[in-house]
Amino acid sequence: MPAPVKSVLNESKQIERAAMLIQMGARMQVLESETTLSYERLIRLYKEIAGKSPSKGQLPFSTDWFLTWQENIHSSLFLNIYEYLSKGVSLDSVELLTKAYRLYNEQVQAAEIEPLLSFTRAWRLVKFVDAGMLTRTKCAQCGGQFVTELYENRHYTCGLCNPPARAGKSKSAGALTLH
Ligand SMILES: [Zn+2]
Repeated sequence: MPAPVKSVLNESKQIERAAMLIQMGARMQVLESETTLSYERLIRLYKEIAGKSPSKGQLPFSTDWFLTWQENIHSSLFLNIYEYLSKGVSLDSVELLTKAYRLYNEQVQAAEIEPLLSFTRAWRLVKFVDAGMLTRTKCAQCGGQFVTELYENRHYTCGLCNPPARAGKSKSAGALTLH
């Protein structure tokens, strides 16, 4: 019995999606979450496309990384793009994520800054926001929207307006503006 056309189509769509995610640099936990393909299948695809075995281990399940100074600025830049896109166009969650991630990359490259946020981290950030563990808060000084914990006070000042003392000599984050 030949497989029904519908399931063949769905399967090829899943493979296409996995391939795109692998090319974006996604780790296995993203692939397992965003496609219906089996783990073995994903491993084989990963090796074929990336030319190496996927790195082992999971990202730590913690919001801390996104709240650290420079990481926070990159996370905020990405999330602002993501939120902006999600209002304008109707894309599914993976399309939205990859599109926002490409735009984030373009923007940091234009500013000649190394992209601190990996694709997998960007994916995790969106999950944290969806789960209500992180949100965006407006900076009381510059008016930009920044990734924060849920109940940040209304006099919140961002890491660009109020950089930590150790950041004095670093210009890199300052080259990004979020408003
Ligand atoms: Zn600010």
